[in-house]
Amino acid sequence: MCALPAIEGGVPQRDSMLRYGAPDVDGEDIRAVNEVLKSSWLTTGPKVSEFEELFAAKVNVADAIAVSSGTAAIHTALASLDLKKNDEVILPSMTFLATANCVVHCGAKPVFADIEPSTLLISAEDIRKKITKNTRAIIAVDFAGQPCSYDKLYKLIEEFGLILIADACHSLGASYKAKSVGGLADLTAFSFHPVKHITTAEGGMLTSLERNSTKFAYQFRNHGIDLDAVSRNKQQTWSYDMQMPGFNYRLSDMQCALGISQLRKLDHFVSKRRKIAQYYFDAFGGFDLLKPLKKLPDRVHSYHLFVVQLNLHKLSASRSHIFKALLQEGIGVNVHYTPVHQQSFYQDNYESKCINTDDVYKRILSLPIHPIMQVNDVTDVVQAVKKVLSYYAV
Ligand SMILES: *Cc1c(COP(=O)(O)O)cnc(C)c1O
Repeated sequence: MCALPAIEGGVPQRDSMLRYGAPDVDGEDIRAVNEVLKSSWLTTGPKVSEFEELFAAKVNVADAIAVSSGTAAIHTALASLDLKKNDEVILPSMTFLATANCVVHCGAKPVFADIEPSTLLISAEDIRKKITKNTRAIIAVDFAGQPCSYDKLYKLIEEFGLILIADACHSLGASYKAKSVGGLADLTAFSFHPVKHITTAEGGMLTSLERNSTKFAYQFRNHGIDLDAVSRNKQQTWSYDMQMPGFNYRLSDMQCALGISQLRKLDHFVSKRRKIAQYYFDAFGGFDLLKPLKKLPDRVHSYHLFVVQLNLHKLSASRSHIFKALLQEGIGVNVHYTPVHQQSFYQDNYESKCINTDDVYKRILSLPIHPIMQVNDVTDVVQAVKKVLSYYAV
């Protein structure tokens, strides 16, 4: 017997909408922000370097530079490479737009590589096919929170003398062969957007394994100036020098105070996400109408997203109908992502071939996963998904 989905006139699983992602901000976080509001430094003050040091220690690197968003972190990383017009940067199309846009903003050419369909991680084999004499860098996206197969990427960057950038906006708290994300690539970008592992509202962090790029990043985030306000104050001077035009990519003290407080809870947030993921794996184990992305060995996955692939051959409804049906059950599903090369701007300006990406995009769906989910929220998701998919099973 099959229960009737809400979209067909049945009773919805939930009365309220369960969001696919949400931050966990508690009283401690609010007190930390309030303290800064009562001080006289609202923007770059003591909380910035404190957050940077704690973050660097957490991901086990020497240098971390706080910036105003994940996008600013990716932009800063790419800008430090001093890319020229014909330079090419290889990246997956299965990512958030910002990864590719930053390449365009640096005046270089984005070249989209295909992904492994079972994990949505960039394919080293396809990267190899797309490397040319103009290739300068590779951006690895740790999709959904699962680190890429870095050993394969190291081989490529050594063989061709490239720079490796990690877009780790999904993978704070994850690790590969016991090494934390943050220290796996030459430069690594993190985001603190509210749906990510920790939040500063908007915010980001860049980690770098190389002192020169660290110095570049400090200047780039502050208009390209060599001394920030705190250092000028210390050195009792008004004067500064600008060596290149930068941006205002600073993260405020207020946001860094929130970041410090959130960072203390990172392990708890990640373990909560991993528990929810395990629950989904168990619940959907014998269910053949969908398949979660594959977990790879040798790495710890931090589950920013929980992505499943619908088995559309066995369903009479389209992905978009199932999407709407789940929303009507009160389950805030989402799709990550529409491939970047399918966006008008990229279609109009670049030629791209990513067959697996185009194909897998038709089947993917992201289920809610975040630290404020309760046990009954997780069971609601499982029941609603099973109800809707079973109803349309052929
Ligand atoms: C969130 C995200 C970004 C951008 O981060 P913002 O902080 O929103 O600017 C970039 N890349 C990926 C993969 C992301 O998920």
